[in-house]
Amino acid sequence: MTNVIAPQPGIMEIALYEGGAAKIAGRTDAIKLSSNENPFGPSDKAREAVIRAAHSLHRYPNTDHAGLRQAIGEVHGLDPDRIICGVGSDEIIHFLCQAYAGPGTEVLFTEHGFLMYRISAHAAGATPVEVRERDRVTDIDALIAGATKRTRLIFVANPNNPTGTMVGLADLERLARAVPQAILVVDAAYAEYVDDYDGGAELATRLPNVVMTRTFSKIYGLGGLRVGWGYGPREIIDVLNRIRGPFNLSVAALDGAEAAMRDREHINRCRTENARMRAWLAEALAEKGVPSDTSCANFILARFANPETADACDEALKSEGVLVRRVPGYGLPNCLRITVGDEASCRRVAHVIGKFMADRANAGQGAGQTA
Ligand SMILES: *Cc1c(COP(=O)(O)O)cnc(C)c1O
Repeated sequence: MTNVIAPQPGIMEIALYEGGAAKIAGRTDAIKLSSNENPFGPSDKAREAVIRAAHSLHRYPNTDHAGLRQAIGEVHGLDPDRIICGVGSDEIIHFLCQAYAGPGTEVLFTEHGFLMYRISAHAAGATPVEVRERDRVTDIDALIAGATKRTRLIFVANPNNPTGTMVGLADLERLARAVPQAILVVDAAYAEYVDDYDGGAELATRLPNVVMTRTFSKIYGLGGLRVGWGYGPREIIDVLNRIRGPFNLSVAALDGAEAAMRDREHINRCRTENARMRAWLAEALAEKGVPSDTSCANFILARFANPETADACDEALKSEGVLVRRVPGYGLPNCLRITVGDEASCRRVAHVIGKFMADRANAGQGAGQTA
């Protein structure tokens, strides 16, 4: 055997991230509700900008992302100098861990928090620390109690994926103030789905240790383009820019995202339609004996009596051509995360789950959730 050169500490602790299933063998008509994608896709203006970008593929993109940051700044009322753009918000999360965490430090996140926090903490050689939630909701007191002098970063997805629940801005401010030794990262990937919520932007404007991350992958319908952004104190953004690759975003990504940001009509339409179908789907499932917490995002977390039932329901959906997400990796083995699709998809999901629950009840297996 040849000499095996060991990677840096932490790297081999990383469990590979598994994306939502995209295909069912032997089917071409699968409905994909496994990755929280926008069923309506991106703005036509974003599509046109990406096609136009094909004419300048021989040119390097600009390195300062000035046009995109300007558009974000105008739409959100933020200083473009305090914005950094990345290859998805995943890259911003990665920059934060690379720049602020390392061996001997701790990175906090919640029990059912997004898996990228753990991965990026390990990649930086830091110690990931998971803090319990209370009935699938972020527990601010538990996070404060879980912080130590070694804590450098605290990630709170708000709304959280895969629970769909969120906490208030006053709670986030209380957390940030209680842990001045750490940066509170408010991951606001689903902020656009919430009425009257700035994703933590105002907190990140005012407090020295709050950073907000956002994405074009969800309501903007551009998951395939890979664009996200972060906003926070000038000093922190300056630090992150030092480790950002100068050409991290392609011409197509920059132009497509800028056009998408400026098309507010599309975003408003998608928000309205999501809220309508989300309420419909949650109620339809509840009527069939499948409860879920009130979701603030573009998915609902359907709860079953036990992991076996969740598994069987997932199989039933798959056999009817519907792909949803099992979430045992998030500590939720008795749940299925179902993206809110268009009306036809939602009706299909409700129909298949309704039939599944009725069949179970008839077979006397007591599929319903009890607790
Ligand atoms: C989908 C999602 C993101 C976005 O990731 P991108 O890299 O921007 O595609 C970030 N955080 C959470 C919690 C998410 O669910």
